[in-house]
Formats: sequence, structure tokens, C-alpha cells
Amino acid sequence: MGETESLAKDAEVWYRNGLSFECTGCGNCCSGPQTGFVWVDDQEILAIAKQVGLDHDLDRFERQFVRTLGHRKSLVEYSDGDCIFLEPKTRRCSVYESRPGQCRTWPFWKENLASPARWGQVAKSCPGCNQGKLYSIQEIHRIGDRLHET
Ligand code: SF4
Ligand code: SF4
Repeated sequence: MGETESLAKDAEVWYRNGLSFECTGCGNCCSGPQTGFVWVDDQEILAIAKQVGLDHDLDRFERQFVRTLGHRKSLVEYSDGDCIFLEPKTRRCSVYESRPGQCRTWPFWKENLASPARWGQVAKSCPGCNQGKLYSIQEIHRIGDRLHET
């Protein structure tokens, strides 16, 4: 898509004036029954394994922290829906520096931006939405696109 066409398309979307977001660190997106899956590829697995000092034994790392679902891999979660890397007391990510793309790009996922109603639903469980730093439409798309590059 050419730049002009892309700009014209940007002008049409409901969040053309940008969206505010600033994480409060509540941990909701890393926990709970609606969490679903935290998909990871080999590069992301290696990055987290490095951070926890297990890059010399990736098999062990995967046995402990990763589950395979068909052709894809996801981080293990506890029965209550908490991601295995969510610190139970502080509700902070224990591998924040190497967290996967899915976590880095939240909440600017394409499906979350589908409509104001969908964004409103996301904001109900993510108190960081609609507050703090204002992201321009270009920044939002740049962040969201990173998820689909991986
Ligand atoms: S739900 Fe939103 S505010 Fe809470 S930790 Fe996740 S991104 Fe941050
Ligand atoms: S890797 Fe970290 S940021 Fe991602 S879901 Fe797990 S605890 Fe949350």
C-alpha cells in the first residue's frame, strides 16, 4: 500500500486521533481465565531462557515453561490462569525484558482495535487503556505490526 493510500485509510479509522495507554502493572493481562495463550517462537523461547539462565539447556526450559499445542508453542500457565512468569505476590512479569512479542504489543492488537466497542471491552480488564501516554495512529500501527511480523 502506498503512503498516500495508507494515510487516507488512517484518516478513516475510529482511533485516527490516537489512543492513550499506560500500563498500571495490575497483571490482569497475564492472568485470569480469559488469558488464553502466550504464543512463543524459537527466538522468544531463547530470549526468555537466556534471562532465566537456561539457554544452555533449552529442552529443560521447554519442559518447565512451554507447552506445545499442535504446531505452536505457548508459555505454561497455572490452573488459575496466571502465566508461569507472573510473580504471584507483586503481579509483575519476572521476565519483563525478554517478554514475548504478544506481551510487548498489547493492547494494540488488530482485534482489540476492530471497533470502539471492542476497545471498550479491552479497557474493562486493562486499566492502562485510555490513560497516560497518547500514541499516534502511526505508533499504534507500528506496535501492532510487530506482532504479525513474528
Ligand atoms: S492489564 Fe493492562 S494495565 Fe494491567 S498489566 Fe496488563 S497491560 Fe498493564
Ligand atoms: S511473559 Fe510476562 S508479560 Fe507475558 S503474559 Fe507472562 S507474565 Fe505477562
